[in-house]
Amino acid sequence: MASGKSSWTSFDYAAYAATLRERLLRLLAPDGRCQNPACRKKPRRIGSLQIDHVHGRTWDLRRLNRWARARRYWREHTDGVELRALCSKCNASYRPIPLPVVSEVEAA
Ligand SMILES: [Zn+2]
Repeated sequence: MASGKSSWTSFDYAAYAATLRERLLRLLAPDGRCQNPACRKKPRRIGSLQIDHVHGRTWDLRRLNRWARARRYWREHTDGVELRALCSKCNASYRPIPLPVVSEVEAA
């Protein structure tokens, strides 16, 4: 810590990203369970749940590191994007529900 140059770069982003992610998972799944009503599986660690975009993701997961992903999820959550926590099995088989076309909804 005393060296001065290491304090910023040695900050453990990976651990902090995991903490941010788990905090969001606890909001999305307060009971720690998969939010698919037909499943409700409860993994041993909440971090094993995955964050799912109910209406599909508009960005490429592979282009962001863990830290950027965690921040993106939080920003989406605060922006009102519908997210939910699913177990890996449900997340792998789930198909996003297309959002209604906004112009049609507003015209009605
Ligand atoms: Zn599930």
